[in-house]
Amino acid sequence: MTTRETTLLKVLKNALQVLNRIAGNNPASLGLHPAVYFYNEKGKYSRFLFLGMAAVIQDKLRNNNAVFFKTFTTARKQLEQFLIDNKSLIGLILQNLSKTQRVPKVRDLFEFLVDQLQTPKTLKIEDAIAHLGIRGRILEANVIQTTPQISDDTKSMVYVRQAVTSALRCPVCGGLLDPSKSVSYDHIDPKRKGGSGDPTNVQLAHPYCNTGYKESQPGLRL
Ligand SMILES: [Zn+2]
Repeated sequence: MTTRETTLLKVLKNALQVLNRIAGNNPASLGLHPAVYFYNEKGKYSRFLFLGMAAVIQDKLRNNNAVFFKTFTTARKQLEQFLIDNKSLIGLILQNLSKTQRVPKVRDLFEFLVDQLQTPKTLKIEDAIAHLGIRGRILEANVIQTTPQISDDTKSMVYVRQAVTSALRCPVCGGLLDPSKSVSYDHIDPKRKGGSGDPTNVQLAHPYCNTGYKESQPGLRL
């Protein structure tokens, strides 16, 4: 193999590792719900949100920082609520940044949220804006539509809104589940303690919550 091929292979392997953390049924998968993390307020996929989160994960994997995935899981429920509540303002912040700034700022934002939300608290979007070093006021203003047509933008927006409000929740972390992309069947009473595979003892959870997180918190009983 040439050096170039070796480098390419390394890049692809790293990318696959990151993707396996974001979605899929691999035990380390966080199973991030795309509507929460990667879709903007208009219901459109945002590559900046996706690449920002991918950058966080890549960085933690590179530095062998397994603690991060635990702290992420601790913050997850509040973090997801923050992202849902502030979707349109986060979208506006991104629009106000130059394209080269967007991925690093999204990455900063995710890290800031994980760090801040280790304990229950009400975090305001202003706190995040200040942390990102953005000055000025961000004003949310949407034109109210009075005509009866339903535009493609409206369809996407409603689709994402309902996907989020009707999503199942992981009982371990309280975050949203997207079982079509990632799911794990978790023994409520652990197998090692004699827990059975009877439906009454099985629940859906994120793959990482079922293995990497729950196993590291022996006192956790949900
Ligand atoms: Zn979970």
